[in-house]
Amino acid sequence: MRTGAEYISSLNDGRTVLIDGQAVRDVAGHPAFSKVVQTVGELFDIAADPANGMQYHSPEIDGPANRVFSIPRTSEDMKARRAAVERWAKHTHGWVGRSPDHVGTFFAAFAAHPEVFAHDERDFAGNLTRYYERILRENLYVSYAIIPPQYSRATTASGWEGDNIQVGVVGETEEGLIVRGSQMLATGGAISDEVFVTCIKPLGPDDVDFAVSFALPAATEGLKFLCRRPYATSATSEFDYPLTSRYDEPDALVIFDDVLVPWDRVFIDRDVEKLRRQFFDTGAHALGNWQAQTRLTVKLQFIAAVARKIAAVNGTDRIPGVQERLGELAAVVSSVESALLAAEYSASPDADGMMVPGKRALYGIMGLQSETYPRVIQILRDLAGGGVLQLPSGVADMKSEVTAADVEKYVASPNVSSEERIKLFRLAWDIIGTEFAGRHQQYELFYAGAPFVVKGVYTYRNFGFELHVAELDEFLAGYTVDGRTAGSPALEALVGAGEEA
Ligand SMILES: Cc1cc2nc3c(=O)[nH]c(=O)nc-3n(C[C@H](O)[C@H](O)[C@H](O)COP(=O)(O)OP(=O)(O)OC[C@H]3O[C@@H](n4cnc5c(N)ncnc54)[C@H](O)[C@@H]3O)c2cc1C
Repeated sequence: MRTGAEYISSLNDGRTVLIDGQAVRDVAGHPAFSKVVQTVGELFDIAADPANGMQYHSPEIDGPANRVFSIPRTSEDMKARRAAVERWAKHTHGWVGRSPDHVGTFFAAFAAHPEVFAHDERDFAGNLTRYYERILRENLYVSYAIIPPQYSRATTASGWEGDNIQVGVVGETEEGLIVRGSQMLATGGAISDEVFVTCIKPLGPDDVDFAVSFALPAATEGLKFLCRRPYATSATSEFDYPLTSRYDEPDALVIFDDVLVPWDRVFIDRDVEKLRRQFFDTGAHALGNWQAQTRLTVKLQFIAAVARKIAAVNGTDRIPGVQERLGELAAVVSSVESALLAAEYSASPDADGMMVPGKRALYGIMGLQSETYPRVIQILRDLAGGGVLQLPSGVADMKSEVTAADVEKYVASPNVSSEERIKLFRLAWDIIGTEFAGRHQQYELFYAGAPFVVKGVYTYRNFGFELHVAELDEFLAGYTVDGRTAGSPALEALVGAGEEA
């Protein structure tokens, strides 16, 4: 199985990664990427070591593969899949959102439903299946850009005047499609093997040229990653920026300058209806977001531990009000963890035999994410107080003859060394206050879509209001202005239960 070193050495393949007005020559060695590249490399090493239990026999390739890419077909598969995703997430403590298992999970679900991609003339379903087999065989790290660039949300792309802003088809040859435009926001794109490009936002009939789905190697002619400002380059040391320095995944707008997409890389060609079906009729959206919730759970557990330790170091953990805050934090974290497990417990096989996580539990907790994450951060912020700023400017102050003695004496706590205290509060600041922290707050609010979409579409539609409204209707039909009507078993049961209680 692919090793970290193999992944790292594959990155300098001529891809176009743009930062500070320049194309980056050495992606793996550039300070914006080198640390997170190392982290991703470690993930591959973990998967490659059989001792970590992440490998399984894949029936699709009749050989060993990484469990994080598996198609779950039984409850045991679900459990084993979650354990593998968790194994990786624990290595990054949940701070790498788009590790290779994220998009790989979407492809597992796509591959379990090739019929969704079937086309009368071209073998798009076969393309999909073969691509998934490559992910299994090669442990591919695929990123994705599936959102139209934020240009104007007043209309969809067909309403935008001028040349393609959103990526879409501008031509077709015997070799494939020619695409032009851009798509947001490929987290990890610059350091991934391949980028999957499509559009998850609903498109109208006039947007048909933008209704495509394909994957390309990161090093494809005409394909460019326009990266946001990196934060890792400002991390003066690992001690001062323990998260920024290891986990700063690059986000990039992906630009396509008349890029050829070979036919064998196309999964959907100008078909608005199939574009929607690929995410929602394959179970990919649910399975992919279940992976994301597994990672989020690990991250929240990590943040809770930091909060708990801060209260201990500051000697506030015996104060009832502080215990209440920690209890609130524990309640939030366990509700996310419980929903993750409930989604697994309530998973059921679809028509193709793939286990789909229970959508009510999954989308229920996702609907609260725009409140739970800020709440967790707020509690940590509250408990940390000014301690995250009553810190020396960096490790140099802890070593310098000029400052070390003062730092050691004044920036400490009873039974806690200065180094331990500074280390903990530096970490807390990287969770709540640095640019990396700010990006993560935006990430947790938006990665699965804007909150109005997550709540208003996914949570609202998957709750199953119908059943409860039917029960309510039966109850309401059970009495009139003249008293209770007979023959309403559900009502009798309800009344009976009430009496027993
Ligand atoms: C850190 C980070 C990493 C990301 N990584 C990826 C990635 O790897 N791959 C990828 O494809 N995408 C990624 N995304 C993009 C993400 O999927 C989008 O941010 C998300 O789908 C929301 O789209 P948007 O940002 O265009 O927000 P918009 O849709 O423009 O919405 C922004 C806000 O405008 C308002 N609004 C807009 N339209 C409406 C409406 N119709 N009704 C009510 N209010 C409205 C709401 O307040 C909404 O929150 C990432 C985003 C972030 C922040």
